[in-house]
Amino acid sequence: MPSPDLAIPTRAPAEVSADDTVLPFEVPALDLRGRVVRLGPAVDAILESHDYPQPVAKLLGEAIVLGVLLGSALKFEGRFILQTQTDGPVRMLVVDFMTPDKVRACARFDKNRVAAAIAAGTTDAGMMLGRGHLAMTIDQGGDMNRYQGLVALEGGNLEDAAHEYFLRSEQIPTRVRLAVGEEIRSGEGGRQHWRAGGILLQFLPKAPERAKQADLHPGDAPEGTVTHSVPEDDAWVEGQSLISTVEDVELIDPDLSGERLLYRLFHERGVRVFPPLPLRAQCSCSREAVSSMLASFAPNDRAEMVKDGKVVVTCEFCSSVYAFTPQEAGVE
Ligand SMILES: [Zn+2]
Repeated sequence: MPSPDLAIPTRAPAEVSADDTVLPFEVPALDLRGRVVRLGPAVDAILESHDYPQPVAKLLGEAIVLGVLLGSALKFEGRFILQTQTDGPVRMLVVDFMTPDKVRACARFDKNRVAAAIAAGTTDAGMMLGRGHLAMTIDQGGDMNRYQGLVALEGGNLEDAAHEYFLRSEQIPTRVRLAVGEEIRSGEGGRQHWRAGGILLQFLPKAPERAKQADLHPGDAPEGTVTHSVPEDDAWVEGQSLISTVEDVELIDPDLSGERLLYRLFHERGVRVFPPLPLRAQCSCSREAVSSMLASFAPNDRAEMVKDGKVVVTCEFCSSVYAFTPQEAGVE
């Protein structure tokens, strides 16, 4: 019997990068799986429409990449919501991924503190976020349960938080890389376009004991407590060392396709790609949804929203404006 693998056609990696796609892949020889996300017009549309200060936009871009990397793994219809809540200049980031392909995002921040951080040059991700937490919610809609995972943000960036999340919640050895940048194209008055990209790599061996990771720090365990030091599996050591060589520019370069990047990383081991999934920036708000949100408010709160004889609600994600008469908004 021929090996089934022989029936799989092999080909050279595609030269052209497909923007706004997720490219799933696997490296069977190392038991690695992952996804490459490449965002062009979609991330530009979101960040451009908000017109946030540059470091806020960059941070939200990173959150969008992470949200898409994780949300695109959902195997059912639903949404994946990534939300930070922290005490830094950027108080909140929200990324809402709706299967199979829609993403929207927004940020809340303190204008003065962001301006001060820009003036002081302290705009790296950890400083902009500060301390708090990152919540990841999986919502299957209807009466299905919501699942929420929480991880602390303690001055680190979103990659650090994602690693912490996978170590504690999923216990799957995971590495992510996120990158965001601006590209200036000639002939458009020099307007800068946002680009973003990322890669997620997971070690999923058939024998679960191979996925053992070193114990977490014992925290306040009594002195003398012996911690297990588990040597990491060679395949995972190799996977991590390869992904650590990925440079930011390789994740966002429009002239380097996701397939070429994977080929560069894993060609010695053999990498298999699956059909890419398209992505788009699209809000899921609607007049009906805003109307039912209003209906869920207490009558007093609704009454306080009446201004100049109208109740006006602006979508924080896409800035769409919904206006209701007091009667429509359920104000007596
Ligand atoms: Zn909207």
